Amino acid sequence: MSGWSNPLPQPWMNYAMAENIVTIDGPSGAGKSTVSQMTAAKLNYTYLDTGAMYRAVGLKIERAGIDLADESLLQALLDGLDLSLVAEGGETKVILDREDVSGAIRTAEMGMIASRVSANHLVRKKLTALQHQLGRNGSVVAEGRDMGTVVFPDAKYKFYLDASAEERARRRCQQLREKGQEVNEREILAQIVKRDQDDSSRALAPLKPASDAIIVDSSKMNADEVVAFMLRYIDEK
Ligand code: C5P
Repeated sequence: MSGWSNPLPQPWMNYAMAENIVTIDGPSGAGKSTVSQMTAAKLNYTYLDTGAMYRAVGLKIERAGIDLADESLLQALLDGLDLSLVAEGGETKVILDREDVSGAIRTAEMGMIASRVSANHLVRKKLTALQHQLGRNGSVVAEGRDMGTVVFPDAKYKFYLDASAEERARRRCQQLREKGQEVNEREILAQIVKRDQDDSSRALAPLKPASDAIIVDSSKMNADEVVAFMLRYIDEK
């Protein structure tokens, strides 16, 4: 498998594959999931939710009670990782060790845990390889933090979706409430700011726009408007 830290085009990727890859990166709560799912549905592409992968690995590590510093234990856990993303009725189900963890990973706490484990080089190496595999057949809309910079640097269409921290916190609270979770808006805002800071300042695959990404500020746009903008750009390019 190709080097995960090398942002150059990888040997496994040919031109035709990169033609059919759309990357959508950005900070938490910018609306990436909604926009990525809608764009994938419109293009009839597969939606790849890489944040869900980091969350699932975070859950597995948390449940196993493994210290990230214990690299041999961590590597053994990653070697035995059985993780799949299953598209079902417009949603992605996340199956970890044959258990549907889609609900369990979508909490604010799991977001923080995912952020912590995602800075680990063994975790990134494992999930980057898995993401390459999933993107191998092309026709994917890949959502995450390093899709356009590290995982699919050769993608033809790259977007970086941003919005103010306050607007992102508001949206995240709404999302969590819709799932029946109790939320404290100030706490969510503080978590978002901390998570962005950690994700952008880490040494490996930090959150940042690819140099050739189109930056979309969705603070004052709804999901339909963002998707329409992206599809127009894809169509015209
Ligand atoms: O997008 P989501 O909020 O589900 O991501 C959870 C965490 O996983 C992020 O805060 C980030 O630390 C990590 N992540 C990452 N690289 C990705 C996707 C997510 O490091 N491609």
